[in-house]
Amino acid sequence: MGTEVRELSTDVENLPTVAVQGWGMDQVWEQVLESVEEKIGRTATETWIKPIRPLTLRDETFHLEVPSTLFRDRLLSNLIVPLKESLASVLGYPVQVVVHIGSKPQGELFPTDEEAGKPDPSRAIRKGGLVTNYTFSTFVVGASNQFAHAAARAVADHPGKHYNPLFIYGGVGLGKTHLVNAIGHETLVKQGRGSIFYLSSESFTNQLIAHLRGDRMDDFKNKFRQADVLILDDVQFLSGRERTQEEFFHTFNSLYDAHKQIILTSDKFPNEISGLEERLRNRFEWGLIADIQPPDLETRVAILQKKALAKKIPLPSEVAIFIASHVSSNVRELEGSLTRLEAVAVLTHNPITIDFARQALQNLLKEKDKEISIETVQKAVGKYFGIRVADMVSKRRTNLVTFPRQVAMFLCRKLAGASYPMIGMRFGGKDHTTVLYACSTIEKRLKKDEELRAILDRIERTIYGHGS
Ligand code: ADP
Ligand code: MG
Repeated sequence: MGTEVRELSTDVENLPTVAVQGWGMDQVWEQVLESVEEKIGRTATETWIKPIRPLTLRDETFHLEVPSTLFRDRLLSNLIVPLKESLASVLGYPVQVVVHIGSKPQGELFPTDEEAGKPDPSRAIRKGGLVTNYTFSTFVVGASNQFAHAAARAVADHPGKHYNPLFIYGGVGLGKTHLVNAIGHETLVKQGRGSIFYLSSESFTNQLIAHLRGDRMDDFKNKFRQADVLILDDVQFLSGRERTQEEFFHTFNSLYDAHKQIILTSDKFPNEISGLEERLRNRFEWGLIADIQPPDLETRVAILQKKALAKKIPLPSEVAIFIASHVSSNVRELEGSLTRLEAVAVLTHNPITIDFARQALQNLLKEKDKEISIETVQKAVGKYFGIRVADMVSKRRTNLVTFPRQVAMFLCRKLAGASYPMIGMRFGGKDHTTVLYACSTIEKRLKKDEELRAILDRIERTIYGHGS
């Protein structure tokens, strides 16, 4: 055990602290006291920190009250630094501190070092635990995530009742974190209060290490076992971490027995996570497993439109369709293109049109084209249908090869952006009208054939390296 702690603890200092929401001020303050005591010792804590009354935390400013001016001066001259460090480590982000005497504000303001203006993109996620705008209302539901969404809703309505644990899995950037945060927000709204813990598996590990180091394992155990809802994101990172798995196993059992809700996400199905103890894997499969697939075109368009609306970006629907059909499989990338498009539009004072989008996203789209060649598509399609590429590009017209061939041609057009004559040439010298026919056939079928859409999505996922 000793070894494992040392081995894992190398970069613990640099990692984000746990994000906690649903804590009352008392709980926060208790943690702060503990943390300060580690830094300055018991006596100083008793004398100078204990008498402080925490008032409120608002807009990243922590208000506290001290008994006297003398006390304030002493606090400011000696102890403000460790106090602020502890506040930051408990809250997960740096705060300013305003000291009040009695209940009159004295107006002291102590800007944090981080305030030099650099925005910290990871800050949002740490602030208060749950990501503020990852709610159900900002989540677009489509065929690809319908099931996971319904499960998430059910869990938010009756935490700990129906599906325990809820295990959501799916590729990178497909909305797992968003969805589980939405459950957290919803439960908070519904239940008013209660402890919701949202944290990544990394963070769970790091806290464990910190507590092991400080010989404070009881605190660690108690902390998580208080949760009404525990959300552990990206459990695939527990892989190979025996001590963390053991601790989580006990946490899991204790919450489960108390009918508290456990929510897990992963980029893999439980039995595909290597280095995971059997007893944990087993528990991960006890409740409901719901997957999120890459969104289809309609959903991608809807997501873009929703994000555009939220950010007040004027995005004509033909441009939304243009982006959505070029950037597939990952919502994060989709958002990235929109952000870039907006930035360029604002900087160059241009309206957002298709031509403008093509220009502005040129590099992004070109990279995609470069990445995906006709050959890649042929191989992926061949593999999916279990036929050889040689047969796909042959003149054979059996059903067994005709359909996969049409799918491959369609995808070459869509993903590799190849021209009809070029595709024809690479499929054994076929006429471009044959390719045209194949593409329009698939396109027509796609409009009403859900199964076909699922097939294409799966193939695209393997092409983009997000699936098997
Ligand atoms: P994951 O955790 O699966 O890697 P995230 O939840 O971080 O993915 O999602 C990546 C980005 O895409 C986030 O900004 C999220 O808001 C957005 N996103 C994903 N799916 C949807 C959706 N269905 N509706 C709206 N936004 C989504
Ligand atoms: Mg995530």
